[in-house]
Amino acid sequence: MIASNLQQLAEALIRKTISSVELTQLYLDRIARHDHQLNAYITVDAAASLAQARWADQRLAKGEGGPLTGIPIAHKDIFCAAGWRTTCGSRMLDNFVSPYDATVIRRFAEAGAVLLGKTNMDEFAMGSSNETSFFGPVRNPWDVSCVPGGSSGGSAAAVAARLAPAATGTDTGGSIRQPAALCNLTGLKPTYGIVSRWGMIAFASSLDQAGMLAPSAADCARLLNVMAGFDERDSTSLDRPTEDYCREIDARQADKPLAGLKIGLPKQFFGAGSDPQVMRLIEAAIVDYQTLGAEIVDTSLPNMDLSVAAYYVIAPAEASSNLARFDGVRYGYRTPVYRDLNEMYSRSRAEGFGAEVKRRLLIGTYVLSHGYYDAYYLQAQRIRRLIANDFAEAFRHCDLLLGPTSPSTAFKLGAKAADPVQMYLSDIYTIAVNLAGLPGVSIPCGFADGLPVGLQLIGNYFSEARLLNAAHRYQQSNPWHLRLPPAFAE
Ligand code: GLN
Repeated sequence: MIASNLQQLAEALIRKTISSVELTQLYLDRIARHDHQLNAYITVDAAASLAQARWADQRLAKGEGGPLTGIPIAHKDIFCAAGWRTTCGSRMLDNFVSPYDATVIRRFAEAGAVLLGKTNMDEFAMGSSNETSFFGPVRNPWDVSCVPGGSSGGSAAAVAARLAPAATGTDTGGSIRQPAALCNLTGLKPTYGIVSRWGMIAFASSLDQAGMLAPSAADCARLLNVMAGFDERDSTSLDRPTEDYCREIDARQADKPLAGLKIGLPKQFFGAGSDPQVMRLIEAAIVDYQTLGAEIVDTSLPNMDLSVAAYYVIAPAEASSNLARFDGVRYGYRTPVYRDLNEMYSRSRAEGFGAEVKRRLLIGTYVLSHGYYDAYYLQAQRIRRLIANDFAEAFRHCDLLLGPTSPSTAFKLGAKAADPVQMYLSDIYTIAVNLAGLPGVSIPCGFADGLPVGLQLIGNYFSEARLLNAAHRYQQSNPWHLRLPPAFAE
């Protein structure tokens, strides 16, 4: 069962070869058996999950099941879920039980999916290694001495070790694609605005976007069908006609399934900065894409080199505003000892936030302050526009762009913890996509010294169906995404 994809699980549930209660229990048992090695989950509530599973079984019995009815899905602990502790990986929200569902959670519940548990993450989604969580680091199932990537590292480790069939994540600068790459998963960051951010705890609102991590692109398309859609409660949600993101994947397989597709190779993705073993696998994937019928062309994103610097002004600026709400008054952590209101605020924040969050809040407050705003924040916004223009130019002659997701495979726990700038550079290939608001997917493309390598495909706005199809056709032609980490294959 653990090697099944979402379509097979849905069919098994409809044919009643397994019930949702049995399937949910199977994953709960795997979590109980394996998660002490990974720390992928912050909260598991077997009784609550099984109650949802029983409800799903009733729907299935009445023939009311949809594509996800009865399937357990894990959610990054950044999504508020009614009655569930929702921590965002922080001491600040250690005791917070959400009174309401995020729109993403509600949409999964309406589809009949089972909430399997809340996954570990970098504190407030700030990180690339899942080492900043208040609940301790997550470990990579392919090598437990390595990081799983971040910030959706709990979701990635859980799905990679098959402690969940699939999971949600969020991607502000790479936090779905980078852990997907490091854990041998398919991870999609959709176009900004097609998945509601309502009830998803805000980090940098103009960059944050919800997506998913799953074994295959076909699974991601099924999940996106449930997650995407207009939400009047999110002012940046886009009101567009509903789409079936599986439509290209479900179309009949042609001899050269990607004939006519033009894939651009931005030269900035192929410089000297990456591990040569990673680049060899990316080069091999380019040849595979040609075999599938795609035409490969050279292109350039001339301002991409500035993306990390611009992001580390814009994202902290937005975070410093968003995280002002955590003041010890309304919810979350409050220091037990204080003399007056100001001391209550400052001690609650000093004790409730970890070091990386504090670093971001200081940078963010600084770049927004009088006298520095023009020099930093405004400049960064201008760079953001230049980067978006670069992509627009590239998409005039390419359908998709291709490159590595991450410059290296999973690194050892602690290897970059003391050097924030080194850590920030892990996202060199993913951040520009968020600055432009575009969709991007990471897919497995092989192994270097036993560790997975991810290939990134980037599409134009709203091209998810095509992007996922390009990923799917590649996955039909090779076995990389089907490999399981040996220590968790049973
Ligand atoms: N690693 C990046 C950061 O720390 C991106 C995080 C994310 O996408 N949530 O900001």
